Amino acid sequence: MRAVIYFCAVLHCWLSWLAVAASGIHLGYYRPNCQGTETIMKQQTKQTGIPRRTCILLALGLAVLAAILVWAIGGVGQQETPYTSTSVAMGTYVQQTIYGDQGEEAAAQAVQAISGLEDKISWRIEDSDVARLNEAAGSDWIQVDEETVSLLSLCLDVAEKSNGAFDPTILPLSALWDFGGDNQQLPSEEQIEEFRSYVNWQNLRIDTENQEASLKNRLNALDLGAAGKGAACDAAIDAYKQAGVNSAVVSVGGSVGLLGMPSGKNSWAVAVRDPLTALEDGQSTSLGTLSLQEGYLSTSGIYERYFEQDGVFYHHILDPKTGYPVENDLASVTVVCQNGALSDILSTACFVLGREEGAALLAEYGASGLFVTKDRHVYITPGLAESFTLEAQDYTVVTLEE
Ligand code: AMP
Ligand code: MG
Repeated sequence: MRAVIYFCAVLHCWLSWLAVAASGIHLGYYRPNCQGTETIMKQQTKQTGIPRRTCILLALGLAVLAAILVWAIGGVGQQETPYTSTSVAMGTYVQQTIYGDQGEEAAAQAVQAISGLEDKISWRIEDSDVARLNEAAGSDWIQVDEETVSLLSLCLDVAEKSNGAFDPTILPLSALWDFGGDNQQLPSEEQIEEFRSYVNWQNLRIDTENQEASLKNRLNALDLGAAGKGAACDAAIDAYKQAGVNSAVVSVGGSVGLLGMPSGKNSWAVAVRDPLTALEDGQSTSLGTLSLQEGYLSTSGIYERYFEQDGVFYHHILDPKTGYPVENDLASVTVVCQNGALSDILSTACFVLGREEGAALLAEYGASGLFVTKDRHVYITPGLAESFTLEAQDYTVVTLEE
């Protein structure tokens, strides 16, 4: 049925162009799209001197051919060129692809929404909610924005369910290691022992009713780096919806938000980065493709920020229990669910927990994921197995049990 409608639409368009060309009458509403075609057709008729009837038959034949061609190329339905934009926020790239007339406006609104969020949740930005909370640690309760409270309560929920593997009060440790920063270093054992004792999610308290939060001890401090990029995807998708967009994709660092369907297709194809080639030569080759409908996904990987010292590799995902980078068989974890912030928080939590406990945590949230190991295995939760197509060589895909 769709094919028939599509065919008729293309045919109708071509016949209309033809009518315009043959009669010499310019129908205002066809002109913007058809001017070029119209001019060419007129010139050809003049140069060759072909009779008008032959010309009409020829054009009809061409119309049929074009309809078949466009149908074959376009897959299901019509494809359109999206509006694309790249900008920088949260210390990473924000890439947007938006279908529909409102693309440019919606992209600008999303950029604004992401920067508004960053101004609330970045500990580096003076006067942000998080900076004020860190500053007032051990003393006052602080009034914060609704968006901050809801992100903090999601963080606390996962902190509790992951038994502290995910800990939003990680800043004393993350700042000590300072991966990717000017003071990146291997701290002494004594320093790690001391700073580890300041990390405790149970010291973060929130009052959702009064939109307040507080940190119990003076040296507690928040770092929402493991949640922010996913939350930024939520903010962008909300901005698209408000702008009336119904098909778009946004990526902020390792997090992606998908709205609706891409034009002319019935799923999005999202490439998952091969964490080992990313590590070996900094290249961005694809591990495989996830074919997804509307939703969010985030990846945590050892290739994001790391350094080597005395032949030992240190990466930025820390185990709050030891104070050191997580040591397990994982190279990356990708989580898919219906909330951007949650996908980001869970990808970090699952990385720390490892494959088995991580998969159990995903099940608690109705989320799916894939765990990529350093020995080139891709363990995938059953909900995602059908959607994943492996592209990289030397990997083996294993579907996890329910
Ligand atoms: P992601 O790339 O989303 O996994 O986030 C990693 C970032 O989150 C790090 O650079 C730290 O700022 C922070 N982080 C590291 N380890 C943890 C952890 N166990 N819990 C919460 N945040 C963490
Ligand atoms: Mg994360």
